Amino acid sequence: MVPFCGIMAGMTSAVPPLPASSSTAVPACERCLALAADPRRREPPSCLALRNTTPQPGQSASGVPYSMLTFCCRDCGTVWRLYDRANELFVSWVPEHPLVR
Ligand SMILES: [Zn+2]
Repeated sequence: MVPFCGIMAGMTSAVPPLPASSSTAVPACERCLALAADPRRREPPSCLALRNTTPQPGQSASGVPYSMLTFCCRDCGTVWRLYDRANELFVSWVPEHPLVR
């Protein structure tokens, strides 16, 4: 099965986004479940592909700056955001949607 991500770099904003379809949710693969259980590790699992190569800067509610990278799993299509906060030892991985088991 070909995941939804990967070749999206060339897409333009003229292409409408896919409709949200929670009914066809794919169960998260083992690596994604493992990442959800250990969201502070820096190393992405081998199944994750980087989606945007430019870190997106932002600021948390408490004013801490961070940069965010978006990854997409080649196996189950789960989209992950990697938050890397300034002055913090650990990163945090946050799935775009709650994982389906
Ligand atoms: Zn996965």
